[in-house]
Amino acid sequence: MSDCALDGTCLNTSLPSSTATSNSANVSLSDVSPQDKPWDKHRSFADAVEGLYRGSEFNSYSTRIHFCSELLHFGLVDDDGNALKLKLRSARFCRVRHCPVCQWRRSLMWKAKAYKILPKIIEQYPKHRWLFLTLTQKNVPITELRSTLTDMNRGFQRMSQLKVFPAVGWLRSTEVTRGRDGHAHPHFHCLLMVPPGYFAGQNYIKQSGWVEMWRKSMRLDYNPVLDVQAVKQGGTPMQLIPELLKYCTKESDLVHSREWFLELTRQMNKMRSISTGGVLKEHLKELENEPEDLIGKDDEAKIQDEIALYFGWKRKDQKYRMINSD
Ligand SMILES: [Zn+2]
Repeated sequence: MSDCALDGTCLNTSLPSSTATSNSANVSLSDVSPQDKPWDKHRSFADAVEGLYRGSEFNSYSTRIHFCSELLHFGLVDDDGNALKLKLRSARFCRVRHCPVCQWRRSLMWKAKAYKILPKIIEQYPKHRWLFLTLTQKNVPITELRSTLTDMNRGFQRMSQLKVFPAVGWLRSTEVTRGRDGHAHPHFHCLLMVPPGYFAGQNYIKQSGWVEMWRKSMRLDYNPVLDVQAVKQGGTPMQLIPELLKYCTKESDLVHSREWFLELTRQMNKMRSISTGGVLKEHLKELENEPEDLIGKDDEAKIQDEIALYFGWKRKDQKYRMINSD
């Protein structure tokens, strides 16, 4: 995975000869750069979220989201001499937590960091093994989400302090989905690094053992649903990054019901969605914070300075279209 993933834009169609052509306003970003299609989708959801916040106690979020990423400034980078690639150079982001554009950018930045850092950790601990653990508990009314997440955080902390807890390092993210009955389904996705001997003899913990550990740590009176999978020996935990570092709540759930969404906003206020621990903390701690850079500045040096392309959000057609530069 390269930094190309930040924008994922490989230009193989021919660009208009000039940004100032008379019909440049008809040129859409998704036509010029098919791999930039996600922009339209996320910005469309942002319009919907903006509408849900309007007139609510979060009206100021509505205004901020309205102006989020309205204008995108791209440069061009040479993609190993094969084609030109669009590279985002600047945009104004609102940084509202549930803004679909900002949550997408945040996830891209986190993933790019993890792709960069994980190989170094693997190099440092070549014999250690990796588990992917999903921890859940019963669905709860959305009004109880905050207290439930607090309980789950405490539960995880208790579990990580157990003598039998095998992981020496972990990266954990929180996801909240909307159940069909409107209840919230909070769960943790965890990447665990375990010692090389984990799979040998008595060290190995079966699925039922994990359920027992989580049930006790959460002080539940039922067996919670839990999934644990091992990355094969010689395999890489890199493939788990997209699942681990995606959105906290998917866009279709955000816009399903206004009341649910406003309550989600209240309940999630200032709740952290990523946490790290053990020996992975020192390497991955920065993922716990909002990334400063939502643009992806890593490829800057390769940008061909003389070319600038601007695309503006056209609400009516729900597309980014090229803006005349004169
Ligand atoms: Zn935004």
